[in-house]
Amino acid sequence: MSPEADLCIVGAPVWTGDPARPWADAVAVRGGRVAAVGPERELAALRGPATRVLALDGGLVLPGFADAHVHTADSGLELAQCDLHGVEPAAYAATVASYAAEHPEAAWVLGGGWRMDAFGTAGPRAAALDAVVADRPVLLESSDGHSAWVNRRALELAGITRATPDPPRGRIERDAAGEPTGALLEAAMGLVRDLAPEPSPAEWEAAVERGQAHLHRLGITAWQDAAVDPEVLAAYRAVAERGRLTGRVVAVLRWDVGAGPAQLPDLVERRRTGSVGRLRAGAVKIFADGVFENRTAAMLEPYLDGDGRSTGNLGIGMLGAEELAEVVTALDGQGFDVHVHAIGDRAVRDTLDAFEAAAAANGRRDTRHQIAHLQFVHPDDRPRFRRLGVIANAQPYWSCLDPYMRELTLPFLDPERAGWQYPWASLRRAGAALAFGSDWSVSTANPLEEIEVAVHRVTPGDPAAEVFLPDERVDLPTALAAFTAGSAHALRLEAETGTVTPGKLADLAVLDRDPFDPAAGPIGTVRVLATLVEGEPVHADPSLDLTG
Ligand SMILES: [Zn+2]
Repeated sequence: MSPEADLCIVGAPVWTGDPARPWADAVAVRGGRVAAVGPERELAALRGPATRVLALDGGLVLPGFADAHVHTADSGLELAQCDLHGVEPAAYAATVASYAAEHPEAAWVLGGGWRMDAFGTAGPRAAALDAVVADRPVLLESSDGHSAWVNRRALELAGITRATPDPPRGRIERDAAGEPTGALLEAAMGLVRDLAPEPSPAEWEAAVERGQAHLHRLGITAWQDAAVDPEVLAAYRAVAERGRLTGRVVAVLRWDVGAGPAQLPDLVERRRTGSVGRLRAGAVKIFADGVFENRTAAMLEPYLDGDGRSTGNLGIGMLGAEELAEVVTALDGQGFDVHVHAIGDRAVRDTLDAFEAAAAANGRRDTRHQIAHLQFVHPDDRPRFRRLGVIANAQPYWSCLDPYMRELTLPFLDPERAGWQYPWASLRRAGAALAFGSDWSVSTANPLEEIEVAVHRVTPGDPAAEVFLPDERVDLPTALAAFTAGSAHALRLEAETGTVTPGKLADLAVLDRDPFDPAAGPIGTVRVLATLVEGEPVHADPSLDLTG
């Protein structure tokens, strides 16, 4: 191969993420890989007549971000539906009304993104939707996907009345008179959702590409799609087969709680057929519990009632501890990486127990088992992550005193438990491998906004706000590493990506400012100028000249 580089990037510091050489000032790319990293003068020998030069005027070059937990396909779909993300609660009804008016052909109004804190613990009411859409069913998921807001027409279609019992693992919210209110939690959402039209294969494929473009604009070059059903895997495969999957994707296949062990051979088959180009399907997602805000997180001690009295409610364990251990052991035995959603301290403990049981039954191997969310981690359980080799898959954007925390969480907790939340620094000190992810569209997909919260534990855009559990702040290199090398490890990509190291793939992000520079302003306001996959731009700001 000619020694001439295809691309040289100069003019900005390079944070490599490689402990052997954390900083450099130029990168050379050849054949899609990093050819050299170092002082610009050392790279001069690689510059030939055909070498493109990206000459920056400051900023920062770093490894492309890898999002360890994101719902790219679902969120890409939502971008084309009735989207309430970022809408002020007072404008929800008007947004739904105008979407319905603009889509007279749609038999249903589908969408999501409403905030739980807009309605308090009682949840949203069907009547507010009935006032704007009475002719068609409306189904809107909360931004975290654990609750649905439906109108009267949807309740009628599903036959949900005061006589309808709560389904297993779900709850139909009711008013004082016992009438369904229009809020459906967890499995109860399926009573309505199962009646709604499914997106077509073409719609899913468009959703994958729309979601991918959104992530590339934010510097993300790899991600773990955290709950993939068969139709979404088919869409990813189709996009990959057309050569249009530019991101590296781990499709985490969803474990169907109702289907039991009979689904194992099917998952093995989906893993075999689901690895095309940059797509791999080697992980399985299990929900161990729900979320705290709607009282479905599985806790070791009961929820309080707001006046400090126990409610006796311990939340909902989606699987019993015993079944969870059986399922995890079976998946581990088949060589899957198991990715568990766990919010409550009981769910986290049961999951660690399950991983321990799997290792005892099957022996230790090179696993990438991981627990996502980790809102409450009992101090006794923190050292177990390192001992068991379980990755802490953290969503740092949530670790601040936002309205979810102030209004829907802290009033229903004892102070001791309140202090166990999102313990990123404690887990790190206990030796846990840390990977960061967004959980988009539950929250922003912007890694820089998430990193700002990880570093400061303050609500973004509100620098005067109280710091939430200051001992759990992590420093900027730790946060960046968790979003690059740490998540690359969670995706089994660390040999090829995650650091800017000669020989690795040239998956890179270019920032307009250097977040290490205190004069650069809040980290979350730093913008991504370019995103490169194997040295080729998948996003580039119009101000950049990538042709030179
Ligand atoms: Zn998620």
